[in-house]
Amino acid sequence: MAAALRSPGARFRWRARALWGGARGAAAGQQDYDLLVIGGGSGGLACAKEAAQLGKKVAVVDYVEPSPRGTTWGLGGTCVNVGCIPKKLMHQAALLGTMIRDAPHYGWELAQPTPHSWRKMAEAVQNHVKSLNWGHRVQLQDRKVKYFNIKASFVNKHTVRGVTKDGKETLLSAEHIVIATGGRPRYPMHVEGALEYGITSDDIFWLKESPGKTLVVGASYVALECAGFLTGLGLDTTIMMRSIPLRGFDQQMSSLVTEHMAAHGTRFLRGCIPLRVGRLPDGQLQVTWEDLTASKENTGTFDTVLWAVGRAPETGSLALEKAGVSTDPHSQKVLVDAQEATSVPHIFAIGDVAEGRPELTPTAVMAGKLLAQRLCHQSSDLMDYDNVPTTVFTPLEYGCVGLSEEAAVARHGQEHVEVYHAYYKPLEFTVAERDASQCYIKMVCLREPPQLVLGLHFLGPNAGEVTQGFALGIKCGTSYQQVMRTVGIHPTCAEEVAKLRISKRSGLDPTVTGC
Ligand code: FAD
Ligand code: NDP
Repeated sequence: MAAALRSPGARFRWRARALWGGARGAAAGQQDYDLLVIGGGSGGLACAKEAAQLGKKVAVVDYVEPSPRGTTWGLGGTCVNVGCIPKKLMHQAALLGTMIRDAPHYGWELAQPTPHSWRKMAEAVQNHVKSLNWGHRVQLQDRKVKYFNIKASFVNKHTVRGVTKDGKETLLSAEHIVIATGGRPRYPMHVEGALEYGITSDDIFWLKESPGKTLVVGASYVALECAGFLTGLGLDTTIMMRSIPLRGFDQQMSSLVTEHMAAHGTRFLRGCIPLRVGRLPDGQLQVTWEDLTASKENTGTFDTVLWAVGRAPETGSLALEKAGVSTDPHSQKVLVDAQEATSVPHIFAIGDVAEGRPELTPTAVMAGKLLAQRLCHQSSDLMDYDNVPTTVFTPLEYGCVGLSEEAAVARHGQEHVEVYHAYYKPLEFTVAERDASQCYIKMVCLREPPQLVLGLHFLGPNAGEVTQGFALGIKCGTSYQQVMRTVGIHPTCAEEVAKLRISKRSGLDPTVTGC
């Protein structure tokens, strides 16, 4: 258990020393912090700001190692710079393309097809991201959090060495240290040419020119979302998937997600793995892959290859062994307990770098805030990682909270699980004559009255907005009966959740008819 929690009256003590001038390390001043946060991303910034607001003296160190392609960015971490924010904005750009195609049905006289400028979109998105970088710096300043743009590694249990871009060193020591260094995209290093010719999500949002014809390797959140917006922007996009889409998600929903993408122009190479990438004389990339089902090699040419094969935690350069912080031998993530404490009681880890945590911004933020409150003796609340809602921002968005149908059946047994479902047509799709074949909702419940809701899965427009409110209900232990007594808001897609009358077990047609 954390030292602060074991001795609630204990005051933070702090000791810091700054040494400038590289290896020579001449002492250049004294600093005094209660809390040192390594990593200025979603979790680290939230934790630092909360602790400072509660009166503690706090420092944040953040440093962005350029991607192998040389892409770099400012303060705010993955979400702000190379994750949620630019992704959602590019997703929006793609959705606008669909709306432009809908528009003539609603009487708008637009030139069709309407060209899209990657350059303009990217510049606007990048400018917004830069404004957020600036906003984070201002917020730290306003709350008197000291910010160091240095790459940190441990010297001992209380001391961290930071190195600037120019090689200048700073030694900082603090009573409590929070590791919030997140992760970075993996490269499939066994694939020849992967590093030399491929890019990752660390680069795609910062490209000044369109990536052109793109091969996206991987089939989870990052791969499907990126391929989704690239297709939506009119680019020839292929997904190479070695096994199943969206591992860990409800597989019926995941299949509908990829079915929708395939129906709207994304190509899929299923059961395939990349073998090598090379550059042809005309500058195009030639990719060779193995088709696992047919046991044969194939090749194709692309302008861009985007690796979306998962992320690795940023623990390798932290010298955790010098502080005695344990990591999981397989994932290399930091081992933590329910208090977010590591194997060293005054060192904590939050967000993507911590073992067993969802890799999502809101969980990192909430974990960081709650940790700060506990360290400041304002609360003893622990982060609850159960029933965390999430949305995959594919062209047809997939929002979910709670258990998948497979997980519910595995946990409770088929006989004890009731699934209510519906295929529905969003009103907006009707006039625009859009196909709604994959607009589907299912609610996974216990069969025994009052039928506790175990999970909700929503595939359709604005899935994040729809799922957020129901997540509150599920967090509060809502039952199917209560959802059925909830009055819908008409005409919306969300109201379809409150009208789920057909159970899978009944075998009746779940297609919604009428309005
Ligand atoms: P990060 O935000 O990654 O911050 C860690 C920071 O520490 C970084 O700035 C890093 O440079 C710095 N750092 C690392 N090592 C050191 C060191 N040694 N010294 C100093 N600084 C260091 N989540 C959602 O909830 N919704 C989404 O829509 C969503 N979309 C995503 C899309 C993509 C393409 C990706 C890749 C991720 C997405 N995520 C999304 C996940 C989300 O971005 C992460 O879960 C979240 O950013 C994790 O926050 P964190 O604080 O753990 O780490
Ligand atoms: P994941 O680890 O979730 O998925 C990796 C994907 O790459 C899987 O489809 C995997 O296939 C495949 N893969 C792995 N290695 C190879 C290989 N050598 N060759 C071919 N395919 C391979 O990683 P992501 O980067 O997609 O996402 C990381 C996390 O970021 C997510 O878990 C999520 O928490 C967060 N995120 C959240 C978003 C949101 O909230 N909307 C959006 C984006 C990211 P297989 O299943 O066969 O192993």
